[in-house]
Amino acid sequence: MTRIDGHTYLIGLMAYPIRHSMSPTMHNTAFEALNLNFVYLAFDVPAEKLKDGVAAIRTLDMRGSNVSMPNKQAIIPYLDKLDISAELNQAVNTVVNDNGVLTGYTTDGVGFVTDLKKKGHEVAGKKMVLIGAGGAGTPIATQSALDGLIEIRIFNRHDGRFDHAQETVDIINEKTNCQASLTDLANQVALKEALAWADIFCDATGVGMKPLEDQSLVEDSTWFKKDLVVYDTVYAPRETKLMTIAKNAGVDHVYNGLGMMIEQGAAAFKLWTGQDMPIDLVQAAIE
Ligand code: NAD
Repeated sequence: MTRIDGHTYLIGLMAYPIRHSMSPTMHNTAFEALNLNFVYLAFDVPAEKLKDGVAAIRTLDMRGSNVSMPNKQAIIPYLDKLDISAELNQAVNTVVNDNGVLTGYTTDGVGFVTDLKKKGHEVAGKKMVLIGAGGAGTPIATQSALDGLIEIRIFNRHDGRFDHAQETVDIINEKTNCQASLTDLANQVALKEALAWADIFCDATGVGMKPLEDQSLVEDSTWFKKDLVVYDTVYAPRETKLMTIAKNAGVDHVYNGLGMMIEQGAAAFKLWTGQDMPIDLVQAAIE
């Protein structure tokens, strides 16, 4: 265990509920392995305590914090600056404190793109189909667009997220060179056609995770071509029904969201410490 002394810097995780999170194990494993004098702790911070939570970052001279639901949007007014990753998403998952100046970042999108890259798939020059435009889907779309994706077709059901998905499409079209469009998920003909057109397919809806573990948003295995890259942001279970259907269709590259989860942490770790997270050690610690 790394020695905690008078020079130890605190990094927090402010969300509610949050005690189930794997982030403290990930980051503390990495701090110890690299002999860095930081400690990472999870704090239950519901929305009504967020303002005080951010004040604590300043008062205690914390190096920063992760934030998750319900604080990802609500934290923005309390910060000094937003990185482009947070600005395009209008959401923050990482705060960095540089001598009292608090900057918000979103590292989920970097996590997705980095994980794909490490698995041998660049987003640059590719075409993507994405289902879901919430906390995971939005940064996946915007970061992929920033990193050179040519075109993205987003599908969302007509729920409370549909208008947000349209805003994301408008931002991508306005601020990046990627061409984006939104289609109602109910249009299954368009989804089938899009899967035949795409290089990468990502499901960022949570379907396939409890209590929807027996469901898949693509049931017909013939909709998957063998060279499609299939990515499910869910990582519990490690293999979702969608992934099983894709594998049974002969798709070679089928992934869960564990790598994205670790890489979004690694991107935050780099922002706080300037160092590369030892991914293999961290993965072993949380498996
Ligand atoms: P969210 O609630 O913010 O957004 C969910 C999105 O999925 C919305 O666009 C919604 O319209 C759509 N959706 C929800 N239920 C649906 C259904 N039954 N059918 C069709 N569409 C549906 O959630 P989120 O934070 O974006 O999380 C989504 C999933 O991504 C979860 O499984 C979460 O565990 C996972 N996730 C993974 C990572 C990672 O690092 N791997 C990070 C964040 C979230």
